[in-house]
Amino acid sequence: AVKTAGKGNYRFYEHQLYEDLRKRVDREQELRHAIENDELLIYYQPRLDIKTGMVSSMEALVRWQHPSRGLIEPLEFIGLAEETGLILGIGELVLDKVCAQLATWSQREREILPVSVNVSPRQFNHRHFIKVVTACIKRHRIPAQLLEIEITESCMMGDSHDVSAALAALQKMGIKILIDDFGTGYSSLSQLQRLDFDVLKVDRAFTSEVAKTEEGKVFFTAIITMAHALGMRVVAEGVENARQIEVLRRLQCDEIQGFYIAKPLPPAARQSDFPLQIMPVFV
Ligand code: C2E
Ligand code: MG
Ligand code: MG
Ligand code: MG
Repeated sequence: AVKTAGKGNYRFYEHQLYEDLRKRVDREQELRHAIENDELLIYYQPRLDIKTGMVSSMEALVRWQHPSRGLIEPLEFIGLAEETGLILGIGELVLDKVCAQLATWSQREREILPVSVNVSPRQFNHRHFIKVVTACIKRHRIPAQLLEIEITESCMMGDSHDVSAALAALQKMGIKILIDDFGTGYSSLSQLQRLDFDVLKVDRAFTSEVAKTEEGKVFFTAIITMAHALGMRVVAEGVENARQIEVLRRLQCDEIQGFYIAKPLPPAARQSDFPLQIMPVFV
């Protein structure tokens, strides 16, 4: 297209490329500044046991409190962070904030629940990842079992030997491994069978279908059967109504998470202070 479009158009493209590049460099600078300036914060979204209605864990979800643009959601900056490598710093920061929060909650309450942390492929496959996690737990003097790690199927694309060694090292410490957004990635069933995971989080695309179509129900049933046969618990992500909970319970799903139960919330002084709506379906 560029060749036949003539000189004017070529200039246009060139200009556009330059503009895009400049914007990217600006955004990268801004993100770097956000890390140094402590503008990142963690929200927490609970996960419930579907049988008891009790919270079993909370997911840490990063946000960027931008001085002029307000609260920015992770989908707007995690991609850029991955590409530029800034995710390594952000990942360490998130781990540190979560461990610090767990330590604070532990001082105020006798029994507290674990928190799951999202780890990006680049961070998980970094050779120092286990060291970073271990150091963080030690620094804040918290039991490793309070930490859970969410990885996506794309984390398993690397050298499978390294992946299983990393998983084993974390699990030996008592850290549970969750597969996030299950069903949207490219992992083969053989990987699931070979590697040892604790929890399978089914992507919300499937949750939204489970109470709507027969196919949706069939698909979820198959995932649950397979996961249970392999000794994994199943979480339905993105639960948005009571109908879905009803169906999921009938299908023997283990846990649920979603806006219908609670949105991600800023940290409360005590972990038990989170204003959890009690679902009518659990009363
Ligand atoms: P995720 O780990 O799959 O997290 C679930 C996302 O779905 C969250 O978006 C959550 O707010 C949203 N969600 C929860 N329940 C519902 C629901 O019922 N309906 C709908 N429509 N959405 C729901 P959020 O917080 O914007 O995070 C988006 C993604 O960004 C996360 O997806 C995760 O992949 C990534 N992310 C968040 N925090 C971190 C982090 O600290 N490190 C890394 N590497 N990635 C992170
Ligand atoms: Mg997650
Ligand atoms: Mg997810
Ligand atoms: Mg995700």
